[in-house]
Amino acid sequence: MKLILLGPPGAGKGTQAVNLSRELQIPHISTGDIFRANIREGTALGLRAKSYIDAGSLVPDELTVTIVTDRIQRDDCKNGFLLDGFPRTIPQAESLAAALKSMNARIDAVINLEVPDDVIVRRMAGRRVCKNCNRSYHVKTIPPKQEGICDSCGAELIIRDDDRAETVLERLKTYNEKTAHLIGFYVKRGLLLNFDGTKEIPETTREILETIGKQDNNL
Ligand code: AMP
Repeated sequence: MKLILLGPPGAGKGTQAVNLSRELQIPHISTGDIFRANIREGTALGLRAKSYIDAGSLVPDELTVTIVTDRIQRDDCKNGFLLDGFPRTIPQAESLAAALKSMNARIDAVINLEVPDDVIVRRMAGRRVCKNCNRSYHVKTIPPKQEGICDSCGAELIIRDDDRAETVLERLKTYNEKTAHLIGFYVKRGLLLNFDGTKEIPETTREILETIGKQDNNL
């Protein structure tokens, strides 16, 4: 299946993506993770992206789109993929549709995680991420087994630079101004599926899998 995960920052896209990618055996493609890896490695792309990310704004479409259109053409995407954090603008969504069309493919569903702003701000304040594999935790709601250490790979957990309170508010504003329009874009195309992102993580995963399983039978 070719899926998109949509939702404001802190809606739980990354966490759901890990579960869904494992259950559906499709690669998890996170543009945020790709940018952060490039920043860590000091690449030209990382250098250009960093100032936008630190300011809580979007990396320009021309830098973002080719990363994804190249990535989805790789062999491991033959049976599908899960896009997390892309598209974030209407031009990105249009470029994605055009790239898929040229591959004779299309998106099967867009999973929209709904979470109110006040919950997001609270969640982001406790968020920790693994500096090696990017897995997300929360100090209260999703603690690692050993404090400060990633359950998956044993590396150190850190606070993302852009999870500082001022940047979180800016990211929410960016989401509302630029990304929220994608909800209507995908409703029009009959692809949007809404989920309550405030429920327990496994419950939301189960609901998503059940719903897209039904969709799959109808395809
Ligand atoms: P994320 O990990 O998805 O929250 O992304 C972190 C940051 O990376 C965002 O706040 C943006 O600055 C940048 N970013 C990630 N994906 C995109 C995208 N599709 N378009 C533009 N900027 C992006």
